Parts: sequence; C-alpha cells; structure tokens
Amino acid sequence: MNSLPPLPLLATHDVSNQAPPLENYNLFGRNRPLQEAVQREGAGAAVTWLADRGAELGTAEMIALGAAANRNPPTLKLFDTAGRRRDEVEFHPAYHELMGYLKRHGVAAGPWAQPGPGAHVKRAALFMMCAEIEDGTLCPTTMTYAVVPALARDPAIAAEWLPRIFAADYDPRFIPAAGKRGVTLGMGMTEKQGGSDLRSNTTTAQPLGNREYRIVGHKWFFSAPMSDAFLILAQAPGGLSCFFLPRFTPDGAVNDIRIQRLKDKLGDRSNAGSEVEFWGARAWLVGEEGRGVPIILEMGTYCRLDCALGTAGLMRQAVSQALHHAAHRVAFGKRLADQPLMRNVLADLALESEAATALALRLAGAFDAQDDEAQSLLRRILTPAAKFWICKRGPALAAEAMEVLGGNGYVEDGPMARIYRQMPLNSIWEGSGNVMCLDVLRAMAKHPRCLEALAAEVAPAMGRDGRYDAFADRLKDDLRRPENIEGRSRRLTQAIALLVQGALLLRFAPDGVADAFCASRFAPSDFGGGAFGNLPGGSDFAGILERAWPADAA
Ligand SMILES: Cc1cc2nc3c(=O)[nH]c(=O)nc-3n(C[C@H](O)[C@H](O)[C@H](O)COP(=O)(O)OP(=O)(O)OC[C@H]3O[C@@H](n4cnc5c(N)ncnc54)[C@H](O)[C@@H]3O)c2cc1C
Repeated sequence: MNSLPPLPLLATHDVSNQAPPLENYNLFGRNRPLQEAVQREGAGAAVTWLADRGAELGTAEMIALGAAANRNPPTLKLFDTAGRRRDEVEFHPAYHELMGYLKRHGVAAGPWAQPGPGAHVKRAALFMMCAEIEDGTLCPTTMTYAVVPALARDPAIAAEWLPRIFAADYDPRFIPAAGKRGVTLGMGMTEKQGGSDLRSNTTTAQPLGNREYRIVGHKWFFSAPMSDAFLILAQAPGGLSCFFLPRFTPDGAVNDIRIQRLKDKLGDRSNAGSEVEFWGARAWLVGEEGRGVPIILEMGTYCRLDCALGTAGLMRQAVSQALHHAAHRVAFGKRLADQPLMRNVLADLALESEAATALALRLAGAFDAQDDEAQSLLRRILTPAAKFWICKRGPALAAEAMEVLGGNGYVEDGPMARIYRQMPLNSIWEGSGNVMCLDVLRAMAKHPRCLEALAAEVAPAMGRDGRYDAFADRLKDDLRRPENIEGRSRRLTQAIALLVQGALLLRFAPDGVADAFCASRFAPSDFGGGAFGNLPGGSDFAGILERAWPADAA
C-alpha cells in the first residue's frame, strides 16, 4: 500500500498582508490642509465643533451607513395596490439616517439659519467631510442650501418656507409641508432636448392669476423627487421664468408631478434621480416673467460651490485610502509606502488633494464675504474655474488612488469603486466642463474687474517662486489675446484655477509642498505633464507624506 504524506493543514482563514479597514479615525483631526484652511478662511471658532463632527463621521458605523445607502438604492412606487397613483420613492433606512445627520448639523441651511463670520466656511468644511463618507444624500442637501437666496426674493414664499428650510429636523413623510418638522428642496431645469441650453426649455406655464400658474411639460433629470418643493423653469407668456413648485398644493392635494421612472446611474446610487412630467401642476412665479435663468442660476452658483467642495472631499478620501493601504501592504519585501516610485505617486496625489482643499475652502470664504465687492468679483470668476478644475482632476485622481490598492481597489467590497463611480458627476451636473469655461469668459466680459480681483488675490504670492511668476506672466499674456478665446477657454480656466491654488500653497503650505507643486504644475517638463507620480527627485516626499497620512498606522 502506498502511504501518502499527510496533507498540509490548509489555513485559508489565515489572512496576511491585507490592510485593515480605514475607520474609527477623525476626518478633521487628521486633515491638516483642511484645518489650516478653516482657520485662515474665517471659521477658526468652529474648529472644536468640526473635530467632533470629524470623529463622528469617521466611525465604522457612519462608514457602514454610507455603504448600505448605496448598496440599497431607492425604489419607485408608482401605484398603490388598487392602482391609484402614488408617485413616491422609498429609501433604505441608512439614507434617512444620513439625511437626518446632514439636516441636524446645518449642512442644508446652517449659514442661513445662523449667519455670522465664517458660517459658509464652517459648513463647507463639514460638507467636505460628509462627502468623504456618502455623496448621494448631499444632492438634496445642496439643493436645499442653494435655494435660499433665490427664494428670499419672493417675500410671500420666503415667509412661509424659509423657516421650514431652516429647521434642523429631517422629516421624510410624504405629507403637506405645513405639517412637517423640516423640508428639503430640489430643482428642475434639464429637459430632453437641452440641459446646458436652458432657453430650449419647452415646459409651459399658463397664468391663473395671483402669481399662480399651471405647468405642463417634463423634466429629464429631476433629482430627489421626494423633496417638498422645487424651483423649476418653464415658458410663461413673458418668456422663460422661474417657478416654485410644491409637492402638495395649498389645499393639501398631491400636486400633478408624475414620476416616469428613476435614472439607472453610474454612481450616486443612494440618491433618487428621476424623470417627471407635469400634468397641469400648480406653481408660483418667483421674480419676474422672463427672468427665470438668472434667478435659477443664483441657486446654481451655490450648487457649483458644493460641486467643488464635494469633489475635494472625495479626493481627500481617495488619497486617505491610498495612503492607508500603502502603509500596510508589503510587496517585494518592503511596504508600498516605502517604495520610491509609490512614494512619488502618493505624494503627487496628496498635493492634488491639498490644492483642491485650499481652493474649495478659499471659494467658500468668498461666499462668506457677500458685502465685499472685491470678494464678490473674485467669487464670480473663481466659482466656475474652481468647479471646472477640481471636478476635472477628481476622476483622474480617483483612478490613480484606486490603483494604489491594486485589485482590491476595483471591487465593490471596499470604498474605492464607489468613489470612482461618483467622481464624474460633479463635473457634469450644474454646468458641465465646457459650460464652466464659457461662464469664466462671460464673467470676464460682463465684469472685467474680475481680473483685477484675481490679480489682487495672487499678488502676495508673487516673487516667491520663479516658475510660478513665469506661469502668471504667461497667463496674463494669454488673457490679453482675443483671438479664438472660446476655443482656448479650457486652457485659460484651468490656468486661473491653478494660479489660485499655487498662490494659496506658496503663501500658506509648508515649503516642501509649495515647491513640489510649483515644480510639477508650473515648470515646463521635458516629458510633458501626464500621469501622477512625476514629481522631481529632489521633492520633499517625506514632508508631503507626513502631512497627509489619515491615521497613525504610518
Ligand atoms: C445624476 C444627475 C443628476 C442630475 N440632477 C439634475 C436635477 O436635479 N435638475 C436638473 O435640472 N438637472 C439635473 N441633471 C442634469 C445636468 O445638470 C445636465 O445633464 C447637464 O447640465 C448637461 O446638460 P445635458 O445633459 O442636456 O447635456 P448638453 O447640454 O447636451 O451638453 C452636452 C455636452 O456639451 C457641452 N456643451 C454644451 N454647450 C456647449 C457649448 N456652447 N460649447 C461647447 N460645449 C458645450 C457640455 O459641456 C456637455 O459636455 C442631473 C444630471 C445627472 C447626471
């Protein structure tokens, strides 16, 4: 008889060389660029409060809620069992919990309900941290925040609705707003035949008297249809106008907003995106007939701020995951975080994340300075420029950060795949990339003093780094050349955003961070830009990485 050697004990449960999940850490306490930006942009008094939120958001429980809300997307309940229309969307409990958190901590209305120095910056910092954990719930939250200035134009609607918007309660019941503890709002502009070109809207508004109208038509993208009211655009006799469209009419009946279906989206899966038709829905004019676009774009401006903030938050989370993984994973006998080539990639990602954080918070600071003319001019040009550039860098950064995790980055068990799928959205909605660039040109044409505000903003950084100064000179020349300016507007917009990022890092970041940023973003390279991980050999890799680690493990 053959005597076979005994089988070795298979210990498949013995897992080694895998990073533990990144959880139970303080999203604020470990984010130095964010802490410093909060201080210098005027919200220093909120630091302790933000650290408390950062600790809450970094818990395993909050991270699990974010994952659950996305694994269990909302479902449309069009009819009841008897065949009557319901037009309701049902969400997973995790979605409701996250919405409750956002409302409770003022992400939807804090700066309006409790205005004061640094109020928008404080909210911006919290918004960024929330984006690290879950992004679908931020869509209705942003729209609720952004609607306030436009709504405040109508004293009657404002008197009734602003207190409900300001309430810190989240109340998801599908009942008339008068009986609710708090409300959320949405917006409807995009139609099948056109989204960027709003003048192509075909939805009609027929006057009924007393500023009330009957709306007939559709919206092709209509996020968060369970909101309590919406600002929409429709063609009135006097032209394209802005309307307030509540989900219930004042007599308590469900308004004639018919949900057609929910969008099957690449990412943003916890959030309900819908297509709707209006079958004679009742709505009330906001502002004057024919002035719809500027009114709703006022709402759009605040949404654009949030696109920049949200993407900066997602970038920080992507970089944190990459750093955390690299600190724990060993390959070829050394931690990834100690391999020279990986250190170059990680440091470059950290620089991009820090620059996005600095720019997004600087923009939020300009929103706090509403009464300062120079800040308003800066805000006018920087909002589309920051949205364009940060949101363009997001997907590239997410792809690179995902690769740091190797195959684990690509599977849905971890957070990287969700971050990657979420990233392109902020670039598309509320004005896609090209539309932002055209808006920068519009800002310069309508308010030429925007450029003076921009020059004043970066002046304190001049003379510190020759590569930066030369870049600023090249941009100045480019801006003076009128030929083919539309075709060149991506180049100009990107350069404006980079110019402000560079100025912020030169003035406020450690020397090693500013030097590596200038070397890689402003100095002409022999091999031309390209992938992350091309920082020059003499860069302060240790200093850049030390500043960026999300947790002690490093
Ligand atoms: C998940 C999600 C949620 C959304 N939620 C809402 C919502 O709640 N409410 C709402 O109203 N909309 C919503 N949108 C719609 C979004 O705002 C639009 O998709 C976006 O504004 C672009 O419009 P469009 O899809 O019609 O594309 P188009 O307007 O056809 O644009 C297509 C491309 O052409 C470019 N382009 C357009 N004009 C020019 C030009 N003159 N020169 C050069 N390039 C140009 C654009 O930049 C874009 O890249 C949502 C979209 C998504 C994906």
